[in-house]
Amino acid sequence: MPELPEVETVCLALSKIINYSKVRKIKVFRKDLRWEIRKKFITDLQEDVLIKPYRRGKYILISTLKQKILLIHLGMSGQVKISSNKYNRAKHDHLIINIESKYNKIYSLIYNDPRRFGFIDLFKLKEVEHHFLLKKLGVDPLGNEFNVDYLKKKISNRSKCIKSILMDQTIIAGLGNIYASEILYKAKINPLRSADSLNLKHLKSIITSTKFTLKQSISMGGTSIKDHLQPDGKLGYFVQKLQVYGKKNQNCNNCNNLISMIFINNRSTYFCSNCQK
Ligand SMILES: [Zn+2]
Repeated sequence: MPELPEVETVCLALSKIINYSKVRKIKVFRKDLRWEIRKKFITDLQEDVLIKPYRRGKYILISTLKQKILLIHLGMSGQVKISSNKYNRAKHDHLIINIESKYNKIYSLIYNDPRRFGFIDLFKLKEVEHHFLLKKLGVDPLGNEFNVDYLKKKISNRSKCIKSILMDQTIIAGLGNIYASEILYKAKINPLRSADSLNLKHLKSIITSTKFTLKQSISMGGTSIKDHLQPDGKLGYFVQKLQVYGKKNQNCNNCNNLISMIFINNRSTYFCSNCQK
């Protein structure tokens, strides 16, 4: 499932071509994504101008001149492909938006999603804080508001394990299973540890590890494990930097102990029982 770095990678690629770009032709091949695409999606978006994309957690939001937001959620297996060539429909392409850049160049933004857990929506800008996917989101882990004071407040009297806290989208928006394992390995904290047992030093370490890991992954185009490709079709190379995720019974890079795999909330969780206390 694409997590924050993979979504940011897509968002950065979109930023390179979306800059007051006029929406030309739109085609919806399948509207039954995770939720059904709105009936008036095409008429409402046609001839609007896409101003600029930005990211909120795992969602890409593109503001428009008519005061709307085009939202893209990649779900489990969604991809956005950007093409300036003649379009040939590929399997699982569900939607295509042609845009014309300020310099009159035409691009196709193609939404492809084999499992159809993703979603595309269009709504009024003033509704953004109330949108059902966005209203409960916690802070962005790359923003200044994700800091020791915030985390301390969120975990006080919470006996839930720290890995579940990191993956709770209402606390931190954008972390998922892969990065939660990687961050706790880097911070040397056992994923099963109850959140309220952590001291200030631990919290500082989590904050630093989170920002470092996410930034490093973004700089490498994200992690390609199953479906993630950058919009130009390149893989995300952070997969080569993973320290624990997917490495059950392999040696820890730090101490040579074997990496363990357990399930927390039904999600595979990797850690080194020697390094992570
Ligand atoms: Zn170790």
